[in-house]
Amino acid sequence: MNTAASTNAKSRTAAPEARPVPVVSRAPAPARLKFWGVRGSIPTPGPTTVQYGGNTACVEVRADGQIIILDAGTGLRLLGCQLVAEFDTHPLDLTLLLTHTHWDHIQGLPFFLPVYQPQNQLRILGYEGARHGLEVVLAGQMESPFFPIGLREVPANVRIEELKEMSFNVGPVRVQACLAHHPGACVGYRLFTSNGSIAFFPDNELPRQRATANQKMVQFLRGTDVLIMDTQFDAEEYQQHIGWGHGCLDDVVALALQAEVKQLFLFHHDPDHDDAKVSQMQAYARQLVAARKGKLQVEAAREGATVELPARVRA
Ligand SMILES: [Zn+2]
Ligand SMILES: [Zn+2]
Repeated sequence: MNTAASTNAKSRTAAPEARPVPVVSRAPAPARLKFWGVRGSIPTPGPTTVQYGGNTACVEVRADGQIIILDAGTGLRLLGCQLVAEFDTHPLDLTLLLTHTHWDHIQGLPFFLPVYQPQNQLRILGYEGARHGLEVVLAGQMESPFFPIGLREVPANVRIEELKEMSFNVGPVRVQACLAHHPGACVGYRLFTSNGSIAFFPDNELPRQRATANQKMVQFLRGTDVLIMDTQFDAEEYQQHIGWGHGCLDDVVALALQAEVKQLFLFHHDPDHDDAKVSQMQAYARQLVAARKGKLQVEAAREGATVELPARVRA
């Protein structure tokens, strides 16, 4: 056993009184979610993406005394800076839910400052990645020659747990998982907080020929307060990308209406879409809702935007 592994094992068996108190329960804040990365596939910094942002998938949820992070794309780095600035040396007890291990959902992890502070705990939950096991996949991107510090060497107590059940709890927050239609093992999550439910499907296609599967998705999402879903393509682009595992805007709006979702956030913006295109897709989605006389609110997810729960957007 190497030193890193034994350090980790030691902290895992630490006495209960040494376990950090969840910070949010000590400093109650209004329940909210915040977008730290909204882009799909690859980061897209530059002048054409300043409005919606170029970092890849990462959403922070604070509710019921928990800080729950949804995916670890490059937006995770900014969240880490914020957490360290906000909580300084107070211990953090964080939970990261991974939908899958494609690069745009894990690349922020090596740059997440809280894992470099010994007082912090990070529990990473997800399903088996690419038959190698979640831990092997996550540690792999931090092995030499890709990165100088191994995941098992970081000072924080990082625990990786492979999920077997499709329903589990993060503190008082009940979480349900649902298989997504996307290459490899990929899921979406629905979090039931005391301030409403949030569903997160960053990578998902709604194949038009699979009506039964889509019907299951409607049931899974029924009555969701905030749905964050892959809308990478408009209808025309989708025709060229059928089977790629990403969402068509028209289909996602139809699904959200059918499932009586209250608020939909367009997510996983295509790296080739500039701000004007994303705004145009938002406007088009709103037209679709108006044409159906729906009550669904639609926003394109924007890096840095906060949504108070029950849903209300702040810039
Ligand atoms: Zn993705
Ligand atoms: Zn993916």
